[in-house]
Amino acid sequence: MTHAHGDHVGALDAIKERFPSAPVFISNRDSRLMDGDRSLNKDEPKTPIKGSVPKNLKTRADVLLKDGDQVGSLTAIFTPGHTPGSMSFLDNRNGAIIVGDALQTRGGVAIAGDVKPLFPFPAFGTWSKEVALASAKKIVEVQPSLLAVGHGEMMKSPVKKIGEAIINLEKKLSLGE
Ligand SMILES: [Zn+2]
Repeated sequence: MTHAHGDHVGALDAIKERFPSAPVFISNRDSRLMDGDRSLNKDEPKTPIKGSVPKNLKTRADVLLKDGDQVGSLTAIFTPGHTPGSMSFLDNRNGAIIVGDALQTRGGVAIAGDVKPLFPFPAFGTWSKEVALASAKKIVEVQPSLLAVGHGEMMKSPVKKIGEAIINLEKKLSLGE
């Protein structure tokens, strides 16, 4: 799982019931959110963690991921910002990347926290824009061939668009928006 928000983990119990042997992966950091623990680490920005985390989730992760871990053909890339423990997954076979809500494509390509008027909801659930911006740069660095997001269509050759979204958010942050 990319992160612990309710709209991304809500079906987990049902899936686990149906496929009990399927292992569940989430970042070490976001596993704390699944336990309902919204506390922040000392080195994290002092902004409250936003978004809903399901309260009565029975399922817990089987494997806690950190940056660089391999899951089959996928490399886990730590891309915090939307939540403190958001993870992206790069498929080493074809360069496709699954980023959850670190980026969105619906309403225009944007970095988590950058409000897109046509589809503002991922921004409302975002913890830290500054941290998300740094993570977007990390995503560009791996030069993905295909971008898959939690909200919006898949996008081929997304590097240029993500680059533009980085410049947009940098501008807004420098203006204090
Ligand atoms: Zn989310």
